[in-house]
Amino acid sequence: MTSEFQVSTSISNLSYQPQINDAFESHEEFVDKVKNYAHELRFTIRLGKVEYLSSKKPNSKKTEESSSAITTERKIRKRTLLCSRAGHNESKDGLEDENLNNKGRGRSSQRCDCPFYIRASLNSANGLWYIINMNLIHNHHMVDENHQHFMSNERSIPDDVKQRIEILRRAGVDVTTIRSILKEEFGDCVTWVYSDIYNFIYKLEGSGTNKKELDAEEFIKLLEQFKHDNEEFLYFTDINKDTDRLERVIWMFPEQRMNYSRFYDVVVFDNTYKTNRFKMPFGIFTGVNNYGRSVCFAGALMIDETEDNFSWVFTKFLEMVNQHAPLVILTDDDRAMANAYAKILKPMGTKHRLCQWHLMKNVMKNLCSKLGSNWSAFIKDLYKCLEEIDIQKFLTQWDVLKTSYPSASTYLLRMEKTKEKWAGCFNRDTFMADMTTTQRGESMNNMMKGYLDASTSLIKFINAFQSALEAQNENTEFRIYKQDNFNILYKTTSPLERQATSILTTFSLKKTQEQLMQSYMYRCEEISE
Ligand SMILES: [Zn+2]
Repeated sequence: MTSEFQVSTSISNLSYQPQINDAFESHEEFVDKVKNYAHELRFTIRLGKVEYLSSKKPNSKKTEESSSAITTERKIRKRTLLCSRAGHNESKDGLEDENLNNKGRGRSSQRCDCPFYIRASLNSANGLWYIINMNLIHNHHMVDENHQHFMSNERSIPDDVKQRIEILRRAGVDVTTIRSILKEEFGDCVTWVYSDIYNFIYKLEGSGTNKKELDAEEFIKLLEQFKHDNEEFLYFTDINKDTDRLERVIWMFPEQRMNYSRFYDVVVFDNTYKTNRFKMPFGIFTGVNNYGRSVCFAGALMIDETEDNFSWVFTKFLEMVNQHAPLVILTDDDRAMANAYAKILKPMGTKHRLCQWHLMKNVMKNLCSKLGSNWSAFIKDLYKCLEEIDIQKFLTQWDVLKTSYPSASTYLLRMEKTKEKWAGCFNRDTFMADMTTTQRGESMNNMMKGYLDASTSLIKFINAFQSALEAQNENTEFRIYKQDNFNILYKTTSPLERQATSILTTFSLKKTQEQLMQSYMYRCEEISE
């Protein structure tokens, strides 16, 4: 857990290297210098113990001078700065525990009793601050250079998030909603604090910009621009020659191609969104990476959900990924989509599965009122069927379900036709990367929802899309950062687990640990050959 190694941080090429007796003009200068030192070495500090000058109670006499003293802060005379990984998990160790610039949640889990500290005190004779004791040794690695921007002292609103806030504001979304949207998207993985959002909006509204909406023509120009900026950006458009209308478009950013080449096993294609202004359904291809996070592979817009349009989207998608078809595609139960799959993806060896999330949503829509008071019993039985891993048992249970709930039988018969595409027992040999539902696609949808409203123009749309994407990447990067800088908790004494910690991501490690724990519950017996 806590590493035995010691990291000495006395490096010569720093702009400032703390020494005992170093003098500073003020408390602020002391903190800033050390902050800068920490920045250069890539760790973060937090404010530790503080002592104040003993002063008279300001409300003793109500003279003009003493009333102004009420507003000035108590004067600090001694301050300890700690590494943000000082202390251990249960925080509140009696220290004034304020993270500089940020009061992030979950911070305590980073703690590993790091012994680093620098203490300075005020010399009342000359008003200068002097370093009186310090320990510059850490018991952990410094933050990787690429992840420095996640460190609490480095926080700011990234440009793409600013862009999104701007879009939401133009769409008339209030600050509180923007806050919740950003929270929904990023959770704890933020590189800013919420007051930064207020400040940013305040500044934004002050400048009062109002660019005009752009149309499909401009949208294509923007795609061309992306292509011009980066040859690796791919897109296809299809414009109706008679009406001159943009009917279909698909695009893929360079990092999406990279992600796809790594995580193409299971792809969710979700097409449940309508971008109101252009009345074009929006489809996204998503997958899951080795951190268990959704990764978006491509986005597409089409004028309507016909077999022809889905075929075009699938064909162009394959073209963009050099005909490297996904192993499994999960979709909603939609005939046009299924037909397009059969025509385009099936010949490439891709399996088609229906996601249970949509399946259940449809079941609810069709059967909830029909079954009335039997609904909750029915849904329990249905879930049992879904989870059954033995085909024979599944078929038996399914028949029981049909006879037990006659009012649902017509619908169940219809569902039965595609059972190989949704029942767990038929898919035991198919790697689903934990994605049997479209929750992941849905989460991308939720993310996009914030941008899509009646006033969303195509151009804002793709900007929003790109921002959503960058946010995803940032999330993944943040996970890597967290993994590198948080302690690993071993669940077992197994050497297998030790090895796993050195090669797996936190997400995969957790899955492995769960299985290891389960394996202890198996009964072993010797078998003769
Ligand atoms: Zn440290």
